[in-house]
Amino acid sequence: MDIFQAFVLLNSHGVSLLRAIAERSPYDVASSGIALSTAKQYATLADVLFGPADSPRLQRDSVALAEQRGLSVEHLLMVNKHAKKLKKRGAAWKLRAELIAHQGSFEEVDAYGAQRVKEEAGETPKEPGVRIGRAVGGMRTLTVTDTQRRITDFEKTLDATDTSDQPRSTALLEAFWKRVDGSGGVLRPEYRTVIAIGLDDFAKVSCGNGDEVIVGLSDGTTMTGAELINAALAGALGENLYAGLFHPTAGPVNLYETRFASLKQRIMATAENLVCPWPDCNVPADRCQVHHIDAHKNGGHTSPSNLTMLCRYHNGVNDDDPTKRRRGRIHRHRGKVRLITPGGKLLGNTHQLSTMGAMNLLN
Ligand SMILES: [Zn+2]
Repeated sequence: MDIFQAFVLLNSHGVSLLRAIAERSPYDVASSGIALSTAKQYATLADVLFGPADSPRLQRDSVALAEQRGLSVEHLLMVNKHAKKLKKRGAAWKLRAELIAHQGSFEEVDAYGAQRVKEEAGETPKEPGVRIGRAVGGMRTLTVTDTQRRITDFEKTLDATDTSDQPRSTALLEAFWKRVDGSGGVLRPEYRTVIAIGLDDFAKVSCGNGDEVIVGLSDGTTMTGAELINAALAGALGENLYAGLFHPTAGPVNLYETRFASLKQRIMATAENLVCPWPDCNVPADRCQVHHIDAHKNGGHTSPSNLTMLCRYHNGVNDDDPTKRRRGRIHRHRGKVRLITPGGKLLGNTHQLSTMGAMNLLN
């Protein structure tokens, strides 16, 4: 077989290739010479094809058909690109099944997929709810979706509240805060959220040079040292100021000024990383779960150095049993929480907030 025939063979076995990829961590797949972003794309697609689905039967039949038709990974990525845009329960798998069965060249199926999404998505009603984006460049976005009646009534209320001739979005924002503050609607933030700050920076902040210091908070935001001082003066830091003691190689050692062991350990684990320590994850520690690094059932203790905060998803996919190697497992290496991939790579989370966590302040 020459190299081109090998290439053709590979392209006609997309499903089996993805099945093999599903068995490996994307970080290990990336060492074969492909980009990490591509490896992650393949892993996500493998999860869609072989992981839990809302239409398991359709999923199984479609995957079997894709294998039978010899579709390439590239073709399946294209199918998924269209299908994942449909959010209604069951809709994505219905479209995947339709596109996998659709005869035609890559380009023809691609065009057909785009057209089908336009037809389907137009009718999908938006789910009511409040969505809050993550902090980017010091700003966050809040979106509220509800019935046209409630939102329009609220819009009228805001319009009636405001007076000035500022641009509409600015005027509405001011009116919004006036309404919310006026009716006592917003809780004064109590930063039970943990603030991680190193001793050097703390000295700077205390001397009034707070503007050059940025501290990370476990709710996913940052504050300048000056903002921290203002919050402290306004009493927003709560009654107890939590101080965590971290050892450069042993990890978390102790937390002072708290009463409950479990709460105390949770706060220590939160201050250590501020976000889920899994590489590329950005779930703030406040929304994470306590994770035993050495599993409880394998004799792992509930002591600070055996605990970390993982988001619900990564807590679920972590290989608790070290002999089962699929996605890798969280491990403490020289004091720091790291992912060991099944291929043996040690990786930390390079998220901006994670690098501001307590263990990174000790270098
Ligand atoms: Zn995570």
